[in-house]
Amino acid sequence: FEEVEKYDPELAQAMSDELTRQRTHIELIASENLVSKAVMAAMGSVLTNKYAEGYPGKRYYGGCEYVDVVEELARERAKKLFGCEYVNVQPHSGAQANMAVFFAVLNPGDTFMGMSLDMGGHLTHGSPVNMSGKYFHAVPYGINADGFIDYDEVRRIALECKPKMIVAGASAYARKIDFKRFREIADEVGAVLMVDMAHIAGLVAAGLHESPIPYAHVTTTTTHKTLRGPRGGMIMCSNEVNKKYNFNKAIFPGIQGGPLMHVIAGKAVCFKEALDPSFKLYAQGIIDNAQALASGLMNRGFELVSGGTDNHLMLVNLINKGVTGKQAEKMLDAANITCNKNTVPNDPQSAFTTSGIRLGTAAVTTRGFNTADMDVVAQAISLVIDDMEKNKEEAMALVKSLTDKYPLYE
Ligand code: PLP
Repeated sequence: FEEVEKYDPELAQAMSDELTRQRTHIELIASENLVSKAVMAAMGSVLTNKYAEGYPGKRYYGGCEYVDVVEELARERAKKLFGCEYVNVQPHSGAQANMAVFFAVLNPGDTFMGMSLDMGGHLTHGSPVNMSGKYFHAVPYGINADGFIDYDEVRRIALECKPKMIVAGASAYARKIDFKRFREIADEVGAVLMVDMAHIAGLVAAGLHESPIPYAHVTTTTTHKTLRGPRGGMIMCSNEVNKKYNFNKAIFPGIQGGPLMHVIAGKAVCFKEALDPSFKLYAQGIIDNAQALASGLMNRGFELVSGGTDNHLMLVNLINKGVTGKQAEKMLDAANITCNKNTVPNDPQSAFTTSGIRLGTAAVTTRGFNTADMDVVAQAISLVIDDMEKNKEEAMALVKSLTDKYPLYE
């Protein structure tokens, strides 16, 4: 920070303002987390200077002996953490991990199935504005009126469209995903099962959500959500599956150039942290806090899609409260609570306006919040949504009591 301040005060000001924002706001964006100082230090290190196209022991540049150690540490720890034989830690992001799998498994124009964006899937699972929907024939599946994946319906669509690949995984789904069932459907139609576990990776690492590794042909993830690492992606599978599709080649030279060695170092730190027994307590805390927030909101008249949550996130349907997701996001932001608007099943509003918000507990749990604190968070949300003008000060006082109680990056 000091170095940036000395050289570039204008930029330093924005960085300092962002730190203040993180300190003074309650972070409920379900895809975000707060990394350790060790993860951050690895990312802000001399490793950013190094070109290392290729893989450990087989690089296209000299001087890679130490970054080879870094990448091997990350790979070995990831294998241990998730119990997989093959891992690629080079994807710059979750989207690039997914893109590499698409290009390795499918040919342009091939049919695949993914959860639609407005039902909780990710852009890279077949949205028409993303490469997955532009280069490939995407057939969407969704959730039923109760907010659950209807596996019989997934099977029916699969039998009809005969996909070459089925993508399981989501960005806004609050319930457990039955990977075994997905694999059975994939096997029945001869499809490859790809699981994108980005959101729940930390819960999987802690053994608190069933692991997709035994069921999926290939699993992708981000490393920065519940897993609490640096912003990045990863691909995992068995040696046998990798032999068939060669995911290393799909990443480099397929869609990427030089790996970000400083980020891979951050991943190595993250995996070490996640292998520590304390991570299991952290992940249990995320789930306990999500349960507490869900109950706190439902006790105050909020409706949750699917009636609750099994993981780190929940979707709040605001139709009965008479506000849109867009309005709620803005109002909560003004009271120092950060979240994002989100569509709900059969949403009468557009994807830009929406009728819901998505809330997650990974970041607040890192900060130290417990289940009693989550009831205070529910109270603050309720005050804002029910009557912002009247209650703003009271809500902000509750937020401040919590952000003061749990200082960040001191
Ligand atoms: N997959 C899922 C399920 C996600 O939720 C996300 C991001 O939110 C991604 C992939 C993409 O990750 P990134 O933003 O790192 O490209």
